[in-house]
Amino acid sequence: MSKFFALIPAAGSGARMGNELPKQYLSLNSRPMIYHAIYTLCQNQFIAGVFVILAPSDNEWFKYDWSEFSEKLVVLSCGGLTRADSVLNGLTAAKQKNLVDSNDWILVHDAARPCLTSIQLDKLINELSIDEVGGLLAVPVADTLKRSNIENRVTHTESRENLWQAQTPQMFRYDLLTHALRSTTNINVTDDASAVEALGFQPKLVLGDAYNFKVTYPQDLALAELIIQKRNNS
Ligand code: C5P
Repeated sequence: MSKFFALIPAAGSGARMGNELPKQYLSLNSRPMIYHAIYTLCQNQFIAGVFVILAPSDNEWFKYDWSEFSEKLVVLSCGGLTRADSVLNGLTAAKQKNLVDSNDWILVHDAARPCLTSIQLDKLINELSIDEVGGLLAVPVADTLKRSNIENRVTHTESRENLWQAQTPQMFRYDLLTHALRSTTNINVTDDASAVEALGFQPKLVLGDAYNFKVTYPQDLALAELIIQKRNNS
């Protein structure tokens, strides 16, 4: 029977946060940000293991105690130049170590989405585990979208009908995901689903919620902290 594994690419520098420390280690509720995603994924009853993909030069990870997750957590220091490279390197390393099978499901989740909930994770797994292709959590676009020229003048208002914001986890079988990422090494894919789409597949959009946003700018960190604090107090 196919198993479910999570893979967290965490080899980015987070340049848009304007901080020396890679953003996955910025403090969020007295823990490095990545702790929160690892916690939710490791707690999940369906997830058999969680692979964290670090940059080979990353020393920061080893400054923290991760022993509470030792049953499920596997650290692979094989991150690459892009997110897609980090995911592909992680998948390849996990296979070389015989930790995954070709048919297993891989849930790729950004280290910078600390507010993922068990409810969303269960929903994604339940809706996709019998799907032919796989898919991702996403939310319908709420704002009106403007296309600009280089002077920031509006050239066009885009229709938001059927437009979604892609989130993570993005869930595909090992073989399909690996094949998709290998086939798109020369194209700039910013998520796993777009690599799968480039092969002609149509990943399924599973309705998520706005709390699962990606911490990208400094103000996002304060918002994530408030959300997690509120959850811990309720
Ligand atoms: O930079 P961005 O926010 O798009 O990164 C999304 C995720 O991909 C983060 O968890 C980041 O650490 C990871 N990443 C990676 N390897 C890279 C670039 C980004 O693992 N070379």
